Amino acid sequence: MDFSQQIPMPDCPFCGVVYGASPRVIVDEGNYGEMVHVTCLACHRALAMQVERSPHCVRSVGLLTDCNAEDYRHFMHSKRVTLDDVLAVHQGLAR
Ligand SMILES: [Zn+2]
Repeated sequence: MDFSQQIPMPDCPFCGVVYGASPRVIVDEGNYGEMVHVTCLACHRALAMQVERSPHCVRSVGLLTDCNAEDYRHFMHSKRVTLDDVLAVHQGLAR
């Protein structure tokens, strides 16, 4: 059974189409629940959603993204960009 297809999803925030059979990929799982990436079959735009489950409810928070599921998984586990990183790029571009 594909558990990702059972996760309740909103309509696409870009075009309003019901996600229905749109491909959903669980990109991360933890004690909090799942991080799910879904791509709209109508407009091909993507949404990443953090889904938290409790015995009484399911909560979700969505984030619009340009990343595909593989990229999203990669960046979730990458080193975070720090202020020093930003300053180093700024100084490098200023030369
Ligand atoms: Zn759409």
